[in-house]
Amino acid sequence: MGRALPDPQGEARLMRCVVCTRGGLRAGSTTVTIVRETLTLVVKNVPALICESCGDEYFDEEVLAALEVIAERSEQSGVEVDIREYHAA
Ligand SMILES: [Zn+2]
Repeated sequence: MGRALPDPQGEARLMRCVVCTRGGLRAGSTTVTIVRETLTLVVKNVPALICESCGDEYFDEEVLAALEVIAERSEQSGVEVDIREYHAA
């Protein structure tokens, strides 16, 4: 998956990608794959900021926390492979 936003408060202003340093970030959604010891989880429609140049993805703290909750629920269900739609925590 991508990386946490360097500055979670900075969402409103135009940010640059820290990977390629060239691309501007635009709001969009993406599919995140989380691989854990016993679980491979695919979460669809995750809100992200996506670099227009290299395509790297950034997630804010709230989204990362929600992904953690989704992953925990999925782990508890005991399945090895799971596909879920993103929902806010
Ligand atoms: Zn980039």
